[in-house]
This record gives sequence, structure tokens and C-alpha cells, in this order.
Amino acid sequence: MSTKPSRRAYVETYGCQMNISDGELMEGILERSGYDIVGRPEDADVVLVNTCAIREHAEKRVLGRVSQLNGLKRDRPEMVIGVTGCMAQRMGGTLLEEAPYVDIVMGPDGYRGLPETLDRLESGRREGSAPPPPESVGLAREGAGAGGIEVLRGGRKRGPQLAVLQLDMDENYQGLEQRRADGPSAWIPIQRGCDHRCTYCIVPYVRGGEKNRSAVEVVSEVRGLAEQGVTEITLLGQTVNSYVWEDVPFPELLKRVARVDGIRRVRFTSPHPRDVNEALAEVMATEAAVCEQLHLPAQAGNNRTLKRMLRRYTVETLLEKVDMVRSAVPDIALSTDIIVAFPGETDSEFRDTLDLMRTVRFDDAFTYKYSLRDGTPATRLPEGDFIDPDEAQARLAELIEVSRAIQNEINRDEVGRIEEVLIEGEGRDPGQVRGRTRRNKVVVFDGEAARMGAYTHARLERTTGATFVGSEVEAPERVTASA
Ligand code: SF4
Repeated sequence: MSTKPSRRAYVETYGCQMNISDGELMEGILERSGYDIVGRPEDADVVLVNTCAIREHAEKRVLGRVSQLNGLKRDRPEMVIGVTGCMAQRMGGTLLEEAPYVDIVMGPDGYRGLPETLDRLESGRREGSAPPPPESVGLAREGAGAGGIEVLRGGRKRGPQLAVLQLDMDENYQGLEQRRADGPSAWIPIQRGCDHRCTYCIVPYVRGGEKNRSAVEVVSEVRGLAEQGVTEITLLGQTVNSYVWEDVPFPELLKRVARVDGIRRVRFTSPHPRDVNEALAEVMATEAAVCEQLHLPAQAGNNRTLKRMLRRYTVETLLEKVDMVRSAVPDIALSTDIIVAFPGETDSEFRDTLDLMRTVRFDDAFTYKYSLRDGTPATRLPEGDFIDPDEAQARLAELIEVSRAIQNEINRDEVGRIEEVLIEGEGRDPGQVRGRTRRNKVVVFDGEAARMGAYTHARLERTTGATFVGSEVEAPERVTASA
């Protein structure tokens, strides 16, 4: 632990659960280095904006936010603004040009050296010029090398700007723990990066290839969390079910985590459909702690589109996987991701996606319009393939209508069920709590927020479409699967 006077850091995270987890990782690294983690940028010496690059819209939002934070810097010029995560990796030096008040850009493999990078910035500022070379702050570690930090601009007026953008095939943050908020649930990253190359996706380019953590370390972390009172675990990875560590494939890891004393619920996200297999279905069917829920990102319901997306499965094999998991876990709730208006998608191919939705009847769907990301293979498709924005919007609207109608029907049929609920926090109305069923459905009911973390049972009284209003009931002898 550093002997430096305590400094205060604030981390603001955008994007997916992996990014939220990275935000907690950075907080943990900074806290162990002597920083106090604060809840507002106004109270911080170091403000880190942890970004997402999946969609153009998300990047624009972050640029706006960073410019807003620069307002705080006018009164406190010594404040450090860092931009971390996928957008930092994607834009690199361009970001420092576009937002000259940003001091550090750091990609997802640079977080271990965050305190040293901040020290280096500080010493560079003190000297009023470019910071000393990386060797002097001990950043030369295997895989990163002395070139891990690049000084992009020096000078007395503006001060140094640092870029840490090197991808590191060995960096899986083994041995480092996140700073987690108190609560019954914890997300455990078991994998970073991705070995797939879906043609629309920026992830492999900003997070690098797949890197898995040791199964022993994952299970030991889960044990530690269970001892602290955590009862629900979500295993996290870009293609979580392709995880393998030595002779431990994902289903085996899932089983080991599910058997840790004190763990009552285990989830995982996001699996790749190609790696959903019999072994996984069996663990889901037989391990009591593994929840009856699976997110299965289909992305499209047409084989030509799937091939051009390079998804490595067909509609037919996807449907086989759906049948397999449903026969292993009959009460399973399925959710999905769908992208409409992928370049070259015809109207009839889009209708195949609607057909897939009607065939599978997903409990929930996260729906997107294709978003062009520089550097991804899909950007090189012929210009005429790109779909008119109004048409893309119309397809998205139709997809949402279809998926919501299906969700409403499914949820209406579930009214009357009694479900185990984990209380997660306050509901929207005073005197209400919000909880989640094993099948990942949100229920609000009368109760006290002080009971956060408690397990109870609720009868689903009515649905608002996506969520339920319930009433607390005595635990039944056996939780019903039907009304
Ligand atoms: S599997 Fe495809 S969509 Fe998912 S992170 Fe990897 S490249 Fe992106």
C-alpha cells in the first residue's frame, strides 16, 4: 500500500456488465494503492470515465459527459480526467486530440498499472514537461513492456497526456479483486476478450483475444464472497461458455461454483450459442443453484445474415440448442439479443428474424439497429448494402412490437405463479421492494428495503408487460411451476 497522502478517485462507468465489472476492478486497484473512492466527481482528484465502444451513440454520450466534467477542471486544474475502456482503446490519441483536457486514455488491459500511470502523470506535471520514461515508474512488466505507456503530448501549458493502449494477451487480472458494493449479488469475470470475429463487433479489436482466469482462483473468490454473505453469483465473459482452464471446461466450472457453500443462485452471461452443449444443459438441469435462465444471443433469424455476421451457427442449429436446453430444463426462461438492418439484410431476411422470435418465444429480447463501427469487417461491405436509416428504424420498431407482444403473453400466463424472490432493493413506489425470481423476472411487492438480500416468496399478481407486481406469501412446500 502506498504511503502517499490519500487522494480521491471517482469512476463512472458506461456500457455492459463487463465494463461495470472493470469499473469495480479499477476501484479495487486504486483503493489498494491508497486512494479513497468517492461517489461524486466533484469530490475527486482523479475522475475516470470508463467507456463503451459498441455503439456510436454510446461514444457520443461519453464525449459529452467528458466535456461536462471538464467544467470541474476549470476551478481545479490539478484534477485528472482519464478515459478508460473500449472507447479509449478504439479512439486512442484521436480522443486526446478531440478532448485536449483529457489527461489519460487507457484501454482495458492497462488497469493493473493505473496507480503508476497516475504517479507518472503527476511527476510529469510537477516537472512541467513530459513525464519521465516508463522504466522509472516500474511499468515494465511482462507483456506490457516499457512501451505500455505512450506520452502523446508534453509541455508546460497543457501538461502531459498519457496513452496506455497496448493489448496484452497475458493480462486476465488474475490475483486482483474488485471493490464491490455490499449486497447479496456479485459478478465474477472469468474471461476477458473474445476469439470470435463477428463482423459487426468491435470487441475483439478493443479487448483482444479470449483470456480465461484460473478455475481455482475463480472458485476461491466465490468462496470468499460467500463467507462475506454473497448468495448470488453471475459468471461473466464475452463468450462465457467457451471458457476453459487447463482441464476445466465451462460446465465443470459452473458446477464447482454452484456447489460452494452458501451460494444459492448462479447465473452466467453471455454464452455463445455455438458452445451451448449437452454438458452445459446437464449441469443446468442438475445443479440446484444454477438458475433456470439462459441468455442466448441469436442476433438474426436468417442463415445468409448469420453467415455474413460470421456467427458460426445456423437457424437450424440454434433451434436445436433451444430444444436441448428446454428439454433439460423445461421451465427455463430464455432471452436474446437481435440486430436488425445488418448491411445487406433484405426485408424477407428480416421477416425470418421475426419468425425466429415467434418460433422460440423468448421471454425477453434486447434489440438493436446495426451500428457501423470503424475497424470492423462489416464496414467494408459494399456501400449499397447499408440500409436506409428510416428503414432500419422501421424494422427495429416492428421487432420491438413483436418481441414485446410475445413477452406480454408469456408473462400474462405466469400470473398466479409463486416464485422464490431475492430482494434487491427499493421498488419505485414508497413501501415497495424490488426483487428477482430465479428465472430473472423482476417483481415488486410491499416490503421494507432493509430486507435487501433476503429470500422470500411472492405470488405474481399482475404483469406490467416486462415486470410483475406481486404479493409476499409463505414459502410453499414446493414452489409451483404453474398457477
Ligand atoms: S462473440 Fe461476436 S458479438 Fe460476442 S464479443 Fe465476440 S465478436 Fe463480439
